[in-house]
Amino acid sequence: MPSLSEYLHHGSALAAKSLLLALTLGATLAAQAAPTISRLTPPSNPRLATATTLARFLPGQKFDLQATVQPSAGTRITRVRFAVDDQPVADLQHDGSAVDQFGGETSLVKNGLVKDLAEGTVVASLRAYANSQPGLHWLSVTATDSRGDTSTRQGSFEVVPIQTGQGQVAKNIIILLGDGMGASHRTAARIMAKGYLQGMTQDRLAMDKFPVTGMVMTSSLNSIVTDSAPGMASYVNGNKAANNQEGVFPDDTVSAFDNPRIEYLSEYLHRLRGSALGLVTTSDVFDATPAANAVHTASRGMGTGIVDQYLDDRHLTGLKVLMGGGRKWFLPNPGSADKRQAVNGSQRRDASDYTLPPDLVAGWKASPGKLDSGRDLIADFQAAGFAYASDRAVLDRLGTPDKLLGLFAYSNMNVAFDKINGRRGKSSVVADYGFPDQPMLDEMTASALKVLAKDNAKGFVLMVEGASIDKQSHLMDTDRWLLETLEFDRAVELARDFATTHPDTLVIVTADHECAGAAIIGSATVSEAVLRSRAATTAEMRDKVVGVYEAARFPEYTMLADGYPASTDIDRKMLIGYGANADRYEAWVSNPQPTRDEQQPFADQAPLNSYPASPAQRNNTTGYLVTGQVPGSQAAHTATDVPLSAFGRGAMLFTGLYDNTDVFFKLGQVLLGGVK
Ligand SMILES: [Zn+2]
Repeated sequence: MPSLSEYLHHGSALAAKSLLLALTLGATLAAQAAPTISRLTPPSNPRLATATTLARFLPGQKFDLQATVQPSAGTRITRVRFAVDDQPVADLQHDGSAVDQFGGETSLVKNGLVKDLAEGTVVASLRAYANSQPGLHWLSVTATDSRGDTSTRQGSFEVVPIQTGQGQVAKNIIILLGDGMGASHRTAARIMAKGYLQGMTQDRLAMDKFPVTGMVMTSSLNSIVTDSAPGMASYVNGNKAANNQEGVFPDDTVSAFDNPRIEYLSEYLHRLRGSALGLVTTSDVFDATPAANAVHTASRGMGTGIVDQYLDDRHLTGLKVLMGGGRKWFLPNPGSADKRQAVNGSQRRDASDYTLPPDLVAGWKASPGKLDSGRDLIADFQAAGFAYASDRAVLDRLGTPDKLLGLFAYSNMNVAFDKINGRRGKSSVVADYGFPDQPMLDEMTASALKVLAKDNAKGFVLMVEGASIDKQSHLMDTDRWLLETLEFDRAVELARDFATTHPDTLVIVTADHECAGAAIIGSATVSEAVLRSRAATTAEMRDKVVGVYEAARFPEYTMLADGYPASTDIDRKMLIGYGANADRYEAWVSNPQPTRDEQQPFADQAPLNSYPASPAQRNNTTGYLVTGQVPGSQAAHTATDVPLSAFGRGAMLFTGLYDNTDVFFKLGQVLLGGVK
């Protein structure tokens, strides 16, 4: 680790220039006229010499080097050089032509940049750089302009060493990601499913039974409060990313698909040893959490390009299983220019599709992409050897194919509350959505494990997401996220059973962030019948209902053989409050219909258009108004730490409090170096 004086010696010309300006007040024209290097990627901790290094990589893990260089007035940038530890790694010349220049794995891009950059700004890149030497490395970029003035900016990154010879390595990694699942969500699910008596839980959730639990800090590169894109990506590439961005660092170009990449665990392991990737979710498969294991984009909303990349870049990730909702991105849209919804539910659009620049294609060996909203992506998956399941019956019938695609809804799948009530013949919500036979998360997980365990000499990474723990917490639909958490825990149990019979497996259960500031505030002091008869006023529904402290007692739910409560509307039911809430009407009883999901292609048509539009409209005649602390119509994520539980090989590494990026390096140790 270099000392502070060494850092100052290494320190950038820019910093030196600032110092000069500050000290002399009268800078020379020549000093002011040097190029400005306004961004150097990977990003470095600004307190370079005193704080921990920001960008960290496993030995040989690929990432892009990039710099944004702005010329001073009357000059143009003629040369950009990258060096690592003073050894040149790329030397890019600019001849002054108007067009972007590309040469192999490098590029100097002048067009398609964001606003507010100086005329003639270039973005210089070296793609798919890798360094195998453990320790801190100095990264520098030097820019020269047409007058011969130069500037240098210094950054750093670290290659995290793997301790070898520690013991046995893990072959398989199963990451169960309860989206938005904070400690409160886990506790509430335990209270509902297992029951408490005299202060003691009567049993534990599957995730509670894992031998190790730690706490994870979840903040992103640009905010204490993350969203799912950097939240998930941090676990599987070891680096902080900006909100809404997955598998990339921020840049200064407009394109959402050309950002500097960071190699994912799936890609790294597939490249090193041919491992497979499985992604299972209850959300639309384009959603941030599944995508942040395989797809690199600065905009998590680019659905068409994201799902195309799952298939097009399977040679990089080893994708073998992809299951969830999101069929709307896979169906061909015959009229891409047509703003109206295609009759088949397709939402493929050229505007959300991808193409990649040549340097990125060359460096990463990625597919170049194509604007092809008319593509039949299901047919293309099938042509690539994937068996396709459109509902639970087909999924069962397929048995154990070599590769598996399952798309069980147009967008996000229905939640456990509605799927279970549909199976019990008590609700028509799944039929209203047009998908009456959707599998539960544990059923998808069982299929995924069977496929991945077949011919599994090289190991796999499986990510299983309980997506609507988050989505229903946003909507403050308590009973729906509670059943989502129970559904998720059933998938956790399957993963634990797999690791028990396959001891070369590590299972971790965690969340990308907490959602809604959920809190178990107590229980209703009245029966369900009394609750339903109360006038919709604060005096009636809050002051005469909400039992806190000893008035909460121990709510008792009746669990049925299918694993879910007979009803969530019991007498003296558990009550949940929200610390990051938007306005809502709270009636405490379950909502017969889910709140409208605008991502469903037919959300504005009958029958879905009759569903409650938002928590501020839901129950507005039966509930009392709880005024929100956050604007908008949904509760927000919070920066609260989340629990992580681990089971199987290497689980002991996950004790204590650590950063979400630390998880990646713990996984690296277990997978590559082994554990005692
Ligand atoms: Zn969320």
